[in-house]
Amino acid sequence: MRKRVAVLGATGSIGLNTLDVLRGAQDDFEVVLLSGHTSAGPLLACARDFPGAILALSGETAKPGNTGTGTISHHGTAALLAAITSSGADIAVNGISGAAGLAPSLAVLDAGADLALANKETMVMAAPLVRERAAAKKSRIFPVDSEHAAIYNLLRSHCDGSHGDDTLEEILLTASGGPFRTLSLEKMAAVTLAEALAHPTWSMGPKITIDSSTMANKGLEVIEAAGLFSVSADKVKVVVHPQSIVHSMIRLRDGAVYAQLSKPDMRLPIHQALYGDACVPCPFGRLDFDGLTLGFEKPDFRRFPMLALAYRAAEKGGVYPAVYNGANEAAVASFLNNAAAFLDIPRIVEYVLNREWKEGKFTLESVLDADHRARIIAGEYIAKKLEK
Ligand code: NDP
Ligand code: MG
Repeated sequence: MRKRVAVLGATGSIGLNTLDVLRGAQDDFEVVLLSGHTSAGPLLACARDFPGAILALSGETAKPGNTGTGTISHHGTAALLAAITSSGADIAVNGISGAAGLAPSLAVLDAGADLALANKETMVMAAPLVRERAAAKKSRIFPVDSEHAAIYNLLRSHCDGSHGDDTLEEILLTASGGPFRTLSLEKMAAVTLAEALAHPTWSMGPKITIDSSTMANKGLEVIEAAGLFSVSADKVKVVVHPQSIVHSMIRLRDGAVYAQLSKPDMRLPIHQALYGDACVPCPFGRLDFDGLTLGFEKPDFRRFPMLALAYRAAEKGGVYPAVYNGANEAAVASFLNNAAAFLDIPRIVEYVLNREWKEGKFTLESVLDADHRARIIAGEYIAKKLEK
């Protein structure tokens, strides 16, 4: 029987890569739901090769669309969540960008489906709740973020629990270092939007591309790894590896380090997540070692303060990771709108994190409230800066 798949954020970079994988695997998968956010055209274009899929546009102001290729039947966020529940999907790929991906992830798990998770904000904001919801319905979470997909597979192969809980010494999360890996702080002050959008090894959506240039992406991924693999963030070390061939490593207590390598092609981890724990021939990401040179460096926390701030947020725990994420989303949005400079991004996030974030019971409401307030405080900071 074919696995029924929902693709959330189908019109984005992860979504389009997922459709590419699915196009070549129609004997194994049936696409039952496709979602986009802003406009009908791109979503209808996605639907062309997958007739019969429910089409949902989550943007509240998105216009209904109906062309020869399909009909968009669900409009707005609530309708998207309802579509996830009614779609009958066995697995959903969540390629929605930002904090908006959290509620759809929870809807997938509550529906008893497996989650192929690209949306890192889901684990950053609410890992304990997400794990709880998954356990309640016995839903599985398969990481799609390339580093986490690598770690998932490495842990599965080398830490199956038979050696005791402390087999794992540390996770070595690789980072390309982004386009400004060797740039001085002085020069970073003058970085333009176009320069920050030019990632050296990966082609991705705009938000994550900016995050890669500040290394906030790696900061989010440290928190994501801690949440996915139930380790403290200080067990997750960042190793800069400019070629993006080693997708991550694990060091075991006997000193052995295991690594996962492939070409930087998101279709590979998407393929793996869609097939779950089965090892199925994959047409993507085959590595040729001829002339291949791999380099590794220490991350520079001084030039990339977003990395240090992520560890600080992870150490504080509770809603702090959600605050880090919310403030960063607001800061990046203002950089993308030319309202903030590149080096304002860490300034804004530090300012917001330095506020008092009271620790009450950790609930979905407290997380969403912290996310909301973090954006407001970031907005106030940006507005004040613009007045000057
Ligand atoms: P894109 O910006 O390319 O795509 C985002 C998708 O989400 C689009 O389909 C967009 O719809 C939809 N969307 C945007 N806002 C909302 C919203 N408020 N509610 C519901 N849907 C929304 O992002 P990426 O594909 O680059 O990234 C997606 C996620 O995957 C992020 O969390 C990112 O960190 C993670 N990730 C991405 C990687 C990559 O290679 N791109 C690698 C690893 C992780 P529309 O097009 O209509 O606006
Ligand atoms: Mg990644």
